[in-house]
Amino acid sequence: MKRKIISVILVLNIILILTPQAFYNTIAQTENNTQSAQKVRFSNNINRVREGRRINLRVIANARIRSIRWTTSNSRNVRIISRTTSQRVTVRGVRGNTRATIRAIVTFNDRTMHTISRTIRVNDLFYEQEMPLLVNRDNPIPRNWNADLVSIGDGHQLNRRAARAWRAMRNAAREEGISLWIISAYRNNARQTRNFNNRVSQHRANGRSAEEAFAMTAVWIAVPGTSEHETGLAIDLNSLNQSFERTREFRWLQRNAARFGFIMRYPRNKTRITGINYEPWHYRYVGSNHARRINRRRIVLEQYIENRN
Ligand SMILES: [Zn+2]
Repeated sequence: MKRKIISVILVLNIILILTPQAFYNTIAQTENNTQSAQKVRFSNNINRVREGRRINLRVIANARIRSIRWTTSNSRNVRIISRTTSQRVTVRGVRGNTRATIRAIVTFNDRTMHTISRTIRVNDLFYEQEMPLLVNRDNPIPRNWNADLVSIGDGHQLNRRAARAWRAMRNAAREEGISLWIISAYRNNARQTRNFNNRVSQHRANGRSAEEAFAMTAVWIAVPGTSEHETGLAIDLNSLNQSFERTREFRWLQRNAARFGFIMRYPRNKTRITGINYEPWHYRYVGSNHARRINRRRIVLEQYIENRN
């Protein structure tokens, strides 16, 4: 009898020694009753990276990990740049406006395997997280607006991010033999006021009433405090004449401006909404993600902001 009990205990011990990991994991998983005892996940929810920047991914599990093999579905879009055997890797977004899937093939100490993956979207350099600022006759520039100006040459200034996008756009155009130049960028309030008042005076000199002169001016020059040029986010390019639309430069902008984050702000068939006449030369920086959506939907910024939900 005594010998029989000892032998049963021995057999039980042998079972425990042979399969310790699976045994303990099964005990640990009593709360979540799934087929697999091992639980493995990423330590964060990051699924976006800006072009040229890095993010970290780490695997955490409730069981001992023996090794991990990391792979990417497209290393031209998202590259793994650290040791691919550790529990943590650094990945870099290579090309903007793309995506790739990062996979972690996890082998546990008990030799079971588990694969988890995360699709990472690479945002381009001109991607803007926040909704664009709407400035028009009904929406004056906010008092606390910081134009964050930098010089862009020839005495012009622009908002820092808009300036970077402008330089990239001008250079890309140049490579295709298209010449873009700035006629007007940032204008301070005094300058905008002067421009506006000069035009009103011209109309008055031609015999218009004060009211008429104001209205005739306002469809061409924004009322001071409501001009996008005062935000540092707008540029007038090449020619302040509607015939600009018949140039190669204009056609290039139609095809390419959005990828640098610019929209043609005052289209011909939207003047009732924008309150501004057709201006094929006026471009506004909103960010590439917003610009693409606005163009795809064939709407203007007013409609985009209104329908943001
Ligand atoms: Zn303009």
